Amino acid sequence: MKGFLGIDKVILPRKIALDGHRFLRLVGERYSEGIALWAGYAEGTTFVVTHLLIPGQTGVRSDEGVCAVIDGPELRRIGMELYKANRQLIAQIHSHPTEAYHSDTDDEFAIVTIMGGLSLVVPDFAVRPFDLVEYATYRLSEQGIWTEMHPRDVAKLIEIVEG
Ligand SMILES: [Zn+2]
Repeated sequence: MKGFLGIDKVILPRKIALDGHRFLRLVGERYSEGIALWAGYAEGTTFVVTHLLIPGQTGVRSDEGVCAVIDGPELRRIGMELYKANRQLIAQIHSHPTEAYHSDTDDEFAIVTIMGGLSLVVPDFAVRPFDLVEYATYRLSEQGIWTEMHPRDVAKLIEIVEG
């Protein structure tokens, strides 16, 4: 299996989920999209999320809406930090003003590029309390296509644990 395609369980501490959601809501109050990252390590077919990373980012408004941009040096800094800590990115989480879906821009500029990696999109600038069911969850296929997952499969894959 390549990348994280073999991962069939992602252990996600509730605190990391809530902190990321709260960040997205905060930037959403300024009508900006935000992006956060989940990092951790793989152990067999399980991935354990250990860190929430909030990259330095700029909210940009354009004709097509709003998006969060992370520049090259910041991406390299994050890559180095992960390397030193022996951690990998499993997922990116970003917010949209309204509907949660993976746009063409999201496909093209995804930060997570590993097969089997995840991209979660949060609707309505995360105004409501965290609920994974509201997130649209996509997984990068072996063919390099971001494919939306059925909520039932998401619930099976991502296990939220206390802590
Ligand atoms: Zn997007």
